[in-house]
Amino acid sequence: MSDNASSTPRALRCIISFIGRRNAGKSSLINAFTGQEVAIVSEQAGTTTDAVAKPYELLPLGPVTIYDTAGLDDEGALGDLRIKATLKVLARSDVAVLVCGEDGLGQVEKDIITRLQDMKIPFIVAFNKQDIQTIPAEDEAFCTQNNLPYVAVSGTQKQNIDALKSAVIGIVPPAFKDDPLLAGDLFNAGETVFMVVPLDLSAPKGRLILPQVQVLREILDNNATAVVVKESDLSSALNNQKSAPSLIISDSQAIKKVASLVPQDIRLTTFSILFARNKGDLPIMVDGARKIDTLQDGDKILIAEACSHHAMTDDIGKVKIPNWIKQYTGKNVQFDFCHGSDFPDNLEEYALVIHCGACMLNRAEMLRRLHECVRRGVAITNYGVAISKTQGVLDRVVKPFNL
Ligand code: SF4
Repeated sequence: MSDNASSTPRALRCIISFIGRRNAGKSSLINAFTGQEVAIVSEQAGTTTDAVAKPYELLPLGPVTIYDTAGLDDEGALGDLRIKATLKVLARSDVAVLVCGEDGLGQVEKDIITRLQDMKIPFIVAFNKQDIQTIPAEDEAFCTQNNLPYVAVSGTQKQNIDALKSAVIGIVPPAFKDDPLLAGDLFNAGETVFMVVPLDLSAPKGRLILPQVQVLREILDNNATAVVVKESDLSSALNNQKSAPSLIISDSQAIKKVASLVPQDIRLTTFSILFARNKGDLPIMVDGARKIDTLQDGDKILIAEACSHHAMTDDIGKVKIPNWIKQYTGKNVQFDFCHGSDFPDNLEEYALVIHCGACMLNRAEMLRRLHECVRRGVAITNYGVAISKTQGVLDRVVKPFNL
């Protein structure tokens, strides 16, 4: 393991979970996979109780977190708790390795496969213990018929481990490898893009903020012309143009006013929407924001922030968004707040999660949070998308993305 593997925060790494029934050999296989004693190995079924996390450098992918989990066939009251813990880890996983023991694919494994498919978690079937038996022909046929990637391995004899690593890397979601555009696909070279940047009290003195600079740079990199204006100068700047800009990008908090100034035939969006797409899955967040229309008295909303920062008097998460939601819906909804890397256990109690802009998270981590909510049946959006909704402009600002 390199220093890089242990120094990268867990939140930023691809999460690979080894799952299966008790005594399928998950722990031995993880030890072979990582080349170290990560997991407790025992002949006795059910040795792994709570999920065990281990940082590992999976080359050429980079740092990952590997989870050894309790058997999904566990029994009794304690077993139920262990299964619950495993499912929680699974909701957070980016990739899974389904480990089968000497019995191959039984009903337990087939149920896990259905669960993984429902949760949209890419997975590999690892037929373990191949030093004592080969893959049953009917299991091989099942995998082929259902298009399931599989590998024959032996954890104890360290057989075919490189093939398992290659197979795992092959199914890692592109979010861990891609760096998607902000706005570069929304205009052509030679066109003009307006950026509307309010310079009010909340703007830092003497500079633009990083998201504005990043978008500006991308416009220039794509050989278009950028016009940066305050919202107070927007109308005159538009009037001075010989032809209309192909896109206007506004600060979220000024979007209501900007939308009233920009003719309907000019495409309009916000910096927050661009970053919501760049950082995550815009359709999921737009669906989540539309859920605001269905909120009822007594519904609970979770405001989730990825870091603990000092709250200002007029804090966006603590004060502004709750107020806007209440004003927009007219409903007596309740707000809870969480900070840091994990969602609370009681996520299902919430009608909606509204997440911060996630500047401290990478795309993979934000996607993981979005998908965890989707898997647990909870709507999720983020601050920027929710603001556009409460300002009555959501449909307009997501139109450039055909949503
Ligand atoms: S947007 Fe950034 S600074 Fe604000 S709460 Fe989220 S991670 Fe922290």
